[in-house]
Amino acid sequence: MRYFHETAETMPAEQIRALQSEKLCRQVRHVWDHVPFYRKKMEEKGLRPEDIRSIDDLHLLPFLTKADLRDCYPCGLLAVPKGECVRIQSTSGTTGRRVVAFYTQHDVDLWEECCARALVAAGADNEDVVQVAYGYGLFTGGAGLNGGSHKLGCLTLPMSSGNTDRQIQFMMDLGATVLCCTPSYAAYIAEAMREKGIRAEDNPLKAGIFGAEPWTEEMRRAIEQGLGIKAYDIYGLTEISGPGVAFECQEQQGMHINEDHFAVEVIDPDTGEVLPEGSRGELVFTCLDKEAFPLLRYRTRDICVLSRKKCSCGRTFIRMTKPMGRSDDMLIIRGVNVFPSQIETVLLQQGYTPNYQIIVDRVNNTDTFDVLVELPEERFTDTVSGVTEQEKKLAAAMQSMLGIHPVIRLVGPHTIARSEGKAVRVVDKRKLTSDSQWKG
Ligand code: ADP
Ligand code: ZN
Repeated sequence: MRYFHETAETMPAEQIRALQSEKLCRQVRHVWDHVPFYRKKMEEKGLRPEDIRSIDDLHLLPFLTKADLRDCYPCGLLAVPKGECVRIQSTSGTTGRRVVAFYTQHDVDLWEECCARALVAAGADNEDVVQVAYGYGLFTGGAGLNGGSHKLGCLTLPMSSGNTDRQIQFMMDLGATVLCCTPSYAAYIAEAMREKGIRAEDNPLKAGIFGAEPWTEEMRRAIEQGLGIKAYDIYGLTEISGPGVAFECQEQQGMHINEDHFAVEVIDPDTGEVLPEGSRGELVFTCLDKEAFPLLRYRTRDICVLSRKKCSCGRTFIRMTKPMGRSDDMLIIRGVNVFPSQIETVLLQQGYTPNYQIIVDRVNNTDTFDVLVELPEERFTDTVSGVTEQEKKLAAAMQSMLGIHPVIRLVGPHTIARSEGKAVRVVDKRKLTSDSQWKG
């Protein structure tokens, strides 16, 4: 089996554009009729639905940003009655910034098909046993790959993440051939298997589909060796549906974007200007046929390069590089979205100064998350136990804001270097992105 949906995946470029044009016109009308927030945005630009006549007019539409999503929380961008929806999912994000995405049955089917395409591109067919070790629940990872695996007719092991001993036991006992999880969890599973004395060639796996967070080519090789598999990348975001917006094929030269469902642009993050293919910029997606939560020109903040170069796999969908970074300051730590501004908020609420530094590293394939915080002068006389107490209190406050536990290290007043320009708030030692992704 080479493709899940051959006619779509190998459609000539002109045909994709024609299909996109038709779907876009319909979608703009749908959003205009049902989402007052977006209609207002269009009106502010003097636009009416009939001004969008083809995909070439996409650039005329206003952008949507994460801030818009926050302002519209929870139902402001919903384009069908709530009663027509069958599901929500939510970003790994945090209290203040959590995004709720709605799905009709049609939207769930569309998303699951995208994940099924990713599985086939990674060499799977209905004979495969797919172990889904992404988190289930609100997070899109588990639900997406679970659905894709069902669609393809694979025996699906809905493991969710965690409980590594059981993961390994089920993998071995039930003969899992494809593993789906975050790359960091894949590396962790590989390590746990090694510790149990299970050699790479002893496990039944042949491939893995890993995504939802940045990972390097070095990490790919380590996972491939550790598990004796071929490791594939998958990209997506809750706002647009979830994993499967783009996926790697055997060629592994970037990820094919499912262009029959999502139109993509790359823009200059400062000016918003659309950049030509091959330029580095911010990815912007338009959902062409989603019903419940059809975002138009959604700014992902992910920095990428697109390529239309012919791919030997036969798929005609445009390819994107791995995200090379972000145009905002969002960090992804252990799969959770963290904004430095949230840390600052907690510090100020708790009576600290905004002098802090976030240090993120990756030790044994797990992210470490430390926050150095300056003690205000008046609290500096405290005893060691007093300091520990304050550290605990602060860590708990951050945990409740971020949904992830930092190690707080209180330091003396004026010990964190001041900067004359932009403060260096984040020291990310993980080196998860690289610039040279197009090899050929
Ligand atoms: P999800 O719940 O699907 O992970 P989120 O909305 O929480 O979605 O996170 C989406 C973000 O995760 C993307 O905008 C991107 O920054 C990051 N991401 C997803 N997949 C990958 C990947 N394969 N490589 C690098 N970053 C990724
Ligand atoms: Zn390909």
